[in-house]
Amino acid sequence: MNAKQLLKDAEQRMMTEYHKDLAHASAQELHNAISGAAMDALAPVWVKKEEARSSRRQAAYLSMEFLVGRLVYNNLYCMGLLDEVKSLLKEKGVDITLLEDVEDDAFGNGGLGRLAACFLDSAVTCNVPLTGYGLRFRYGLFKQEFVDGRQVELPDDWSRFGDPWSVRRLDEAVVVSMKTGDVLAVPYDMPVVGFGAKNVGTLRLWQTESLNEIDFAVFNSQDYAKAAAAKNQAEDITKFLYPNDTKKEGKQLRVKQQYVLVSATMQDILRAYRKRHGSDYSFFSREVAAQLNDTHPTMAIPELIRLLGEDGVSFEDAFLIARDTFAYTNHTVMQEALEKWDLSLLSSVCPQIVSIIKKIDARFRREMKKAGKEITPSLCIILDGRVHMAELATYATHAINGVAALHSEILKNDVFADWYQLYPERFQNKTNGITQRRWLGLCNPELSKLITDQIGPGFETDLDKLKELVPKINKSLCGKFRTVKKTKKKQLCAEIQAKEGVLLDPDMVFDVQVKRLHEYKRQFMNALSILAIYDQLKRGQLKDLPPVAFIFGAKAAPGYDRAKAVIHWINLIADKVNNDPKTKDRLMVVFIRNYNCSWAEKIIPAADISEQISPAGTEASGTGNMKLMLNGAVTLGTFDGANVEIVEEAGRENNYIFGATVEELEKIKNSYDPVKIYNKNALLRRALDTLTDGTFPDDDGMFAELHDAILKGASWHKPDHYYVMKDFADYYETKLQAIRDAKADETGFARKCLMNVACAGKFSSDRTIRQYAKEIWKV
Ligand SMILES: *Cc1c(COP(=O)(O)O)cnc(C)c1O
Repeated sequence: MNAKQLLKDAEQRMMTEYHKDLAHASAQELHNAISGAAMDALAPVWVKKEEARSSRRQAAYLSMEFLVGRLVYNNLYCMGLLDEVKSLLKEKGVDITLLEDVEDDAFGNGGLGRLAACFLDSAVTCNVPLTGYGLRFRYGLFKQEFVDGRQVELPDDWSRFGDPWSVRRLDEAVVVSMKTGDVLAVPYDMPVVGFGAKNVGTLRLWQTESLNEIDFAVFNSQDYAKAAAAKNQAEDITKFLYPNDTKKEGKQLRVKQQYVLVSATMQDILRAYRKRHGSDYSFFSREVAAQLNDTHPTMAIPELIRLLGEDGVSFEDAFLIARDTFAYTNHTVMQEALEKWDLSLLSSVCPQIVSIIKKIDARFRREMKKAGKEITPSLCIILDGRVHMAELATYATHAINGVAALHSEILKNDVFADWYQLYPERFQNKTNGITQRRWLGLCNPELSKLITDQIGPGFETDLDKLKELVPKINKSLCGKFRTVKKTKKKQLCAEIQAKEGVLLDPDMVFDVQVKRLHEYKRQFMNALSILAIYDQLKRGQLKDLPPVAFIFGAKAAPGYDRAKAVIHWINLIADKVNNDPKTKDRLMVVFIRNYNCSWAEKIIPAADISEQISPAGTEASGTGNMKLMLNGAVTLGTFDGANVEIVEEAGRENNYIFGATVEELEKIKNSYDPVKIYNKNALLRRALDTLTDGTFPDDDGMFAELHDAILKGASWHKPDHYYVMKDFADYYETKLQAIRDAKADETGFARKCLMNVACAGKFSSDRTIRQYAKEIWKV
């Protein structure tokens, strides 16, 4: 398939479906026509792939989230057709950027979902037989608006104009039985396009619907209300993506979502297996590997045991098969984020699973008793009537991995220390990665060209090749890099002006923090540093500081009041700073609305400084840090997550590291006194006190709460839980240094940026996926 053919097909589709030619197409029509034509072009490869699937050992990636973003550009890019389609469209008077109006496919909240999408991309390009399994949410992650600086959530009805990238496969639907009623899970398959389109993989997303019998009953039954309720319960399950980080709410719905995902997926996998081997399950764990992306799909383990039991396999045999099949990836060390489900809650949805979890728990107790070992509370699978999903996943899988070297060490030494004692051979590390196809080739063609001009083609499938840049970094290359960066900054300025109405100067230093809003990510500390800079500028200090723009992008979970208050606060800061004639040429702040993949693709290539400022030991890995590194930003960060490895690869001298280490924080944790620091540091005190001194109106009391959270704590946490006061001074000085360096010696700074690009090879998700394939899945 070439671009000409594809456009011809698209034109025909425009005619038959919309009775228009391409030049008169709306964004949605153009999207449907081009995507549909691309799907046709991919079909022959996709079909062949499906056939090959059945004869090889397979891996399945089970994830509640897949943040795939906008598919049309990426898929055309991977098919090698994007540039040509662009110019052919132009000849016909159509600007491809019309497609900017097409919504992202946002079946995820942030890093965890984006990781799953990067993994599928890498697997298909690296020829690893991996299928993604998730849920097809009717509404993706909410769309974020600001009203008076406050976050407002709007529904993301992403498929209302159609969904040209999915194929509905009703013939492969399965029934999922729950205590609340049976539902039909219908798979929608999306192609995952490998680079060069030599290979096409599958993301299978389940959508719940009511069974025909129930629909029929709505019209026929005497009990209309009951039938209608059953219909609603079925359709509600995959209606909304569950926003993480919230306190409570919708727990039963969340359990139903998890159960539908795992039951439908295991039925699907078993159906394919039985076609080959009937009821002989002795090959099962040799032919199937299944990865649990965090604990959300952990019920897949008891579900597989249950399904095998239905076909006559004993509990013990089924347990061993399941253990050899599953592996578990941990993504968080934060206690409040480790899932624990009440037995009564699980019983209200899937009592059949509860009885198997109890059997697994009993098996563990027997094993421990036999070995003469004690079951400490941290080893309990069931404790106080609750199932600890991480303990279940650790006991009933053969491999557990963290997502960065530091994180995996913390798992062994702290969070799962007792488990590590029992099963040291299960613990592994798989440092996260990102796909360089989307996060360099697609989003930064200017830098890609510069790289290819220097070292030849090939980084798209071999990111280690970037190392060849190192000996070529000289003054001339630094100059070219700065030209590229300036181009990307200008493009971003235009976008921000169009979407946000804020005009930034591309000659400013761009300091970027884009990621979910959470206290541990410390956007709050960034805001404090901006207020301190503003304070100093107003007092005639910092005369040597070059003009700087701070760019934020973040959504807060709808129920997370403090995170929302931070957004509100930063927006008020932006308003104040940007409108102050005294400072506005030297300091700008913008919080873009509705941060998502498509925004990330525009912001990241334009960044000079990448803020990765979580307290050491809290961010498991981070992947935003890798995307920014790959696009030539220096990291302003703590020794946390994958920052440690970024600095290891690119050199400490090429990044800006500050703050307490894990060991230092461990030492002071019982004697930490943030008030003491606050009293001593007048600049910090003034910045923090803007929350309560009337600088910003606190009409809902939330700013006072943010202030209290630092100095007083609350019943559920101690003061300054995330060590903002502790790290502030070092952060502030290091940040000023980074901003000064960016302009004081532009060639020197470009050299640092280029060293980051050249050393980013390790962070390709191709490397990560090959490690999973070799060391866990054995595919
Ligand atoms: C990469 C990415 C993330 C993860 O960012 P972190 O800085 O690692 O938290 C979140 N959201 C989007 C849209 C991303 O592309």
